[in-house]
Formats: sequence, C-alpha cells, structure tokens
Amino acid sequence: MVLEKLSEAIQNSLRKLSNIYSIDEPLINEIIKDIQKSLIMSDVDIKLVLQFSKNLKKKALNEKKVPGITIREHIIKIIYDELLNILGSNKEIDIKKQKIMLVGLQGSGKTTTISKLAYFYQKKGLKVSVIGLDVYRPGAYEQLKSLCDKNKISYYSSINIKDPIIILKEGLSLFQKYDIILIDTAGRHSLENELIDEIKKINEILKPDNKYLVLDSGIGQQSKIQAKSFNDAIGITGIILTKLDGTSKGGGAISAISETKVPVSFIGTGEKIEDLESFDPKSFISRLLGFGDIKLLLNKIKENIKEDDINQKNLYQGKFTLNDMYQQLETIKKLGPLKQIYQLLPIGTLFGSLKISDNDFENINMKINRYKTIMNSMTKEERNYPKIINNERIIRISKGSGVSIEDIKELLKHYNSIKSMLKNVKSMFGHRFLRR
Ligand code: GDP
Ligand code: MG
Repeated sequence: MVLEKLSEAIQNSLRKLSNIYSIDEPLINEIIKDIQKSLIMSDVDIKLVLQFSKNLKKKALNEKKVPGITIREHIIKIIYDELLNILGSNKEIDIKKQKIMLVGLQGSGKTTTISKLAYFYQKKGLKVSVIGLDVYRPGAYEQLKSLCDKNKISYYSSINIKDPIIILKEGLSLFQKYDIILIDTAGRHSLENELIDEIKKINEILKPDNKYLVLDSGIGQQSKIQAKSFNDAIGITGIILTKLDGTSKGGGAISAISETKVPVSFIGTGEKIEDLESFDPKSFISRLLGFGDIKLLLNKIKENIKEDDINQKNLYQGKFTLNDMYQQLETIKKLGPLKQIYQLLPIGTLFGSLKISDNDFENINMKINRYKTIMNSMTKEERNYPKIINNERIIRISKGSGVSIEDIKELLKHYNSIKSMLKNVKSMFGHRFLRR
C-alpha cells in the first residue's frame, strides 16, 4: 500500500469513531491531531495541514449530519472532502492514438516508466512503439533494449548516432503506423539550460499529444519547483510520480504538485512493469481511509439528502402530515438510546419532561410502536390529510390496528399540537429559523 503510514494513522483514528453517538470537541481535536501528525510525516506542507485541520474542525462541529448515516461515516466524508482539497483533481487518461514524451531528471524513472506505459497501452489493445533519445548516459541503450525485448515492445534507438533529433526523425518515420509512440528522453543531474534547450527542440519537432514530467516522489515538497520549471519551459500535460512504494514523502509530492495545477496522471508503485496506475485522487483517498466503498457512502448521502430535502420542504411550508410524524418516529427508533435527541425534534414534545429515565425510555419505545401500528392501519389519504379522520374512521382504524380508540385520539392530539407548534414557530421567525 502506498503511503502506508499515513493510511494506518488515519484508519487508527477513524476507529475511535466506531461507537460514537455524538460529536464532541475533545474527540475531534484528538482525531485532528492524529491526522495532522501523519500528514506532516508524509511531508505535506504545514500550511496545507493547518488549513485542513481548521476546515475539518469547523465542519465536524457545525455541519449537519445527513440522516441515515452514522457519525463515523459523516466524519469520514468530511475528511475525504478535505483530503481531496489537498490532493487535487485529475484528468482522464486518453486511450487513443497519440505521441507521448517523457521528460525529467536522471534517475527519476523515465525509462522504467516508458516500459510500464508500453505495457499499459498494449493491454488496452493498442499497438505500441518506443523511441529512445538518451544518447548521453552509458548503458541507456542497453537498458531500454533489454526492457523492450523482454516485453516484446517495438523500439528504436542507436548507440552510434549522437544527435537525438536524427534518431527521433528516423524513429517517427519507422513507427508511422503505430497507435502509441513513446519517447524516452535524456535527463541531467539537475535542471540545466542545456537539458531544457534539448527538450524544447524535441518538443517542437515531435509535437507530442502528451508530455509527462517524471518525478521521483522521494523529493516530497521539492516536486513543486521541478513541476513549475518544466511546465514553464514546455507546458507539460501531466506528471508521473514514481517510487511511491519506497517513500513516506508521497503525500508531500502529491500535494505540492496539486498546488501547481498540473495533474498527476500516473503513479509508479514498484519496479515491475505492471506497477503503474492511472492516478485518481478519489479512489486514492478512499484507499488511504481504508474505505473501499466510499462511492456507496457518497451515493447514500446524496439519496438521503434528497429525502431529507422533501421532508424539510414540507416542514417549512407548515405541511406537517402524519407521514412526517411517522418518519420522525422511525428516526427516533433508529437513534436508539440517545435520549437527549428527542428534545431536539419537534416530536420531542411527545415526551414532555426534559429528563428521561430508563423507565420512560421503555415507555417511549412502546408508545412509538403503538403509534406506528395505528398509522399502518390508516389509508394513505388519512396520513396525508389527517383532517379527514372523523369518529367513524377512528373506529375503523381501532378495529384494524387492535389499538384502543383513546390511543388513536391521543396520537391525533399529539399530531395537532406538533403541527400548531411548527406553525407558530414559522409565523414568529419565518422559514429561516425552521431551516436551521
Ligand atoms: P531514468 O534515468 O529517469 O530513465 O530512470 P530509470 O528508469 O533508469 O530508473 C531509475 C531507478 O529507479 C531504477 O533502478 C528503477 O528500477 C527505479 N524505479 C523507477 N520507477 C520506480 C518505482 O515506481 N518504484 C521503485 N521502487 N523503483 C522505481
Ligand atoms: Mg533513462
């Protein structure tokens, strides 16, 4: 697993949320401290870490939880959003005919990545070729040849020709009929004018569809400077971050690049040819959080927001029906032994006093079950327009539900009192208050 330490720390923190029924500040502070520490250890810029902490705290303490998800899921969603802020967005990888050039300093992983990309596109069914332009480093030719031979990839390079532009032109005419042409370039130990001049020249002749800067993620936050310089020189289309398997500084590299607005397109996660992944921050973060099914959670939240919106809309308009009441009872049941919450809901008036003993709690549960039984014996129309429930209907409902007439009248009394309470609140404070 890439960024193992960060992932481990975050997941340990999230475990603290497992049996939590309410959010309190000390707990949030503790979790923030854990994650802060591990982000800093992953070399993420301290400014970003502080911003992350501030946003997480504010949202965790103030943002309303969507009904139907746990507090743990609620906090995970907030952490997910905030990490996404740090790690940035990505660009869809094109699977089509194209010329791809790799640039970067010596040892960053260009040649290795060339073979990985060749394998990646071959597996997508495209015809792939490679042109090697590193005429300086001894052994560069042999390295490329052996990687390509081993994996049956067509390649062109030369040990005798010392001008990369000639090799490039020859290679291009040779591989006209190929879908993918991968260009491996030479690097230097540091960013020098000579290197920039050469790749500018290659860039002009080649006119690549994609120009990827290959960066060793071990340099952490330093990635930003390189990304910026190469981007200023030739306008790169994406970054390939290598050796994420071997460093704890990957978080710093990804976040620093994210600030330059150049997307991370691929990540290298090992020395083998299949150790290359197209980078998707969303799934990357899901894995960091140990939450493979974050998509499920996001969908659940979306759906629950929709449902909640409908209910809320009814409330704003003072349209409180027995259906709404039924739903609130369901919510209360789901909350379980969270007694304090009762008073926060309009339906809390059902239970009178502010302090609820265990005994009361039992009674409340029985009452909720009884009310639900009654409502289940009503017609849809009766639940939507309780006004129409006259004595005759009450007798019918009583017979159907097996609940006494007194209990049904009590339910309707409660319903009416909640409804008029909501109306009063609305006329006193307007919609905004109810919304809050
Ligand atoms: P170049 O000079 O930019 O062409 O770099 P090379 O492709 O020759 O790679 C330099 C070294 O980094 C080699 O030993 C590679 O095996 C190693 N390397 C490249 N990518 C990765 C990676 O994703 N993970 C690991 N662990 N090693 C890598
Ligand atoms: Mg090389």
